[in-house]
Amino acid sequence: MAASDVETLRNKSLPQKINIFIWRAIKCKIRTRSELDKRGIDLNTLLCPLCDTEVEIVDHILISCHNVKHIWHLPLKWWNFNTLNISNIEEAFVENQSVVDTLIGRSIWQATRWVCCYTIWKNRNNKIFSNKEWIPNKIITDIQTQSFDWISKRLKKTSIKWHQWLITHHSTHLRTNKELSELALVKEAKDPKINRSVNRGRTILILQFIFI
Ligand SMILES: [Zn+2]
Repeated sequence: MAASDVETLRNKSLPQKINIFIWRAIKCKIRTRSELDKRGIDLNTLLCPLCDTEVEIVDHILISCHNVKHIWHLPLKWWNFNTLNISNIEEAFVENQSVVDTLIGRSIWQATRWVCCYTIWKNRNNKIFSNKEWIPNKIITDIQTQSFDWISKRLKKTSIKWHQWLITHHSTHLRTNKELSELALVKEAKDPKINRSVNRGRTILILQFIFI
């Protein structure tokens, strides 16, 4: 990703603090143990606080640590994807053009991934600084509720209800209200049953008009 793309990277469905977090993560400015070490801060260990086997760098703590991959698994299933084709942090943050077939769907899938990263980071901090337990199911629930809260409040062109948010196949369902009404019109034009009932309704209306 070009440096200019990073500077302008923003998702309007999310609060400013998430956009800033993502920008900082891409620039390796979040305080992983390896980054603190580079700044000369003396630490007992550089190992990942979740697995304790690999050095904690941004890519590892947000994407590739096996404890984190487990967290990613549900959003993938939830969005009806089988695998996460992400090898580094930049790929996690860009709007993936190929996997979701609507513009708004791509933006919301991007926002969901960003909330995933942010929630993972927040829970990593809670584990280190507040000695809180790493509970994957709770983190996954947090990702679903928090992403819904943020995204549904900020969406101007479509509306999402909580029960819709939790269904799978988001990759094809998310459309703007305009796209939905266009689809309904196409469906109506193609469906002879709808056409018949619409025509019947129109005939009744015309007859009522004539006989009033
Ligand atoms: Zn790890």
